[in-house]
Amino acid sequence: MKINIIGGGPAGLYFAILMKKANSYHQITVYERNGPDDTFGWGVVFSGKTLANLRAADEESHAAITKNFEAWDNVDVVHRDSRISIHGNSFSGIARLQLLKILQQRAEQLGVQLVFRHEVNDFESLRKDSDLLVAADGVNSTIRNQYADKLRPNVDVRSHRYIWYGTHQLFHGLTLTFRESEAGVFAAHSYKFNNTTSTFIVECDSPTATKADFENKSDADTRMYLAAVFTRDLGEHRLLSNNSKWINFVLVKNQNWSFENLVLLGDALHTAHFSIGSGTKLAMEDAIALAECFQQTRDVSKALSEFASIRKPIIEDYQAAAFESMTWFETAASRMSLNPIDLAFSVMTRSGRVTYDDLAKRSPEFIAQYEAAH
Ligand SMILES: Cc1cc2nc3c(=O)[nH]c(=O)nc-3n(C[C@H](O)[C@H](O)[C@H](O)COP(=O)(O)OP(=O)(O)OC[C@H]3O[C@@H](n4cnc5c(N)ncnc54)[C@H](O)[C@@H]3O)c2cc1C
Repeated sequence: MKINIIGGGPAGLYFAILMKKANSYHQITVYERNGPDDTFGWGVVFSGKTLANLRAADEESHAAITKNFEAWDNVDVVHRDSRISIHGNSFSGIARLQLLKILQQRAEQLGVQLVFRHEVNDFESLRKDSDLLVAADGVNSTIRNQYADKLRPNVDVRSHRYIWYGTHQLFHGLTLTFRESEAGVFAAHSYKFNNTTSTFIVECDSPTATKADFENKSDADTRMYLAAVFTRDLGEHRLLSNNSKWINFVLVKNQNWSFENLVLLGDALHTAHFSIGSGTKLAMEDAIALAECFQQTRDVSKALSEFASIRKPIIEDYQAAAFESMTWFETAASRMSLNPIDLAFSVMTRSGRVTYDDLAKRSPEFIAQYEAAH
């Protein structure tokens, strides 16, 4: 098969790897507009379950990923200077750049052609020249827009603002920190992803962003402002920028996942709020599911309809839980009157997926603390 893939992010690269591994005669090309080292973002998070899926799909890249990752089992909730730890959660983090390097090397080793610094603009010509065209071109997918009448996307731009930073302050475990300031409430999602660096995502509602005047602040001034808000959490460490910009979370869904020989994958297809797990995990699990459909049949249209019928209910379920989590964070300011232990309980049960009983099993010390407080 001649497979062309637009986008060399986790979805596009991992799908290329799995297809080439399954059949070395496939002719696979990945087009990426950036260079091999130009990535944005810091660390990405995987759950223990996702790592098991990655191992089953490709042992080699799984071994390279897990050699480089940082693992932890605690979620820490920080409110009014109290830190509440909830254990029994299996997560790990790796630098996004390192993950992409591993996937690029593995793809090249298998014989996938990677074409960097090549922005595809003429999608229709490429589609006609492919047995399968994969649109793995990210959350702002231009292919999705071009074929909108066929794919029927639904794009919901949320009003909350967020920004991805890094820091050399090491947060051991997924740390959710709430700070009340003059401008309003800020929440930070942070975790270390190697020996020296943590991801530090800050989010706030739009009135807070307006009051803090981020619109008129430079990158350096914004970082100084937020470092002052989180001074007790960051210690002497600065916030580090990597083309970091305030963004609004965009919730993407598509009524149709494919059109003739074109299929959407990863963030181009769907997004789930970062507070419930990274888009990287979903992007790579999409790649696994699509590659498995091609193991069953070589008929492109059958494989694509099978992909949607198997994966859509899973994604809808995931997006429903992520929606609860997103709205919890969008309304976090209204919960600042809760004491730290109640806030921690509310965070942990926000998606409706984790119950009191689950927490009692996973983290009896936390539930003992919760009971003592009541
Ligand atoms: C600024 C930013 C920072 C992020 N940081 C983190 C983070 O630190 N941790 C985390 O877990 N998640 C992060 N995410 C989210 C995460 O990157 C995505 O959920 C995940 O990467 C989805 O994988 P993907 O392959 O579907 O898309 P992406 O990783 O977005 O990959 C899409 C690729 O397509 C390329 N592309 C787009 N259009 C074209 C075209 N026409 N021609 C050629 N190439 C094209 C893009 O350059 C890009 O490399 C970040 C997202 C953004 C926007």
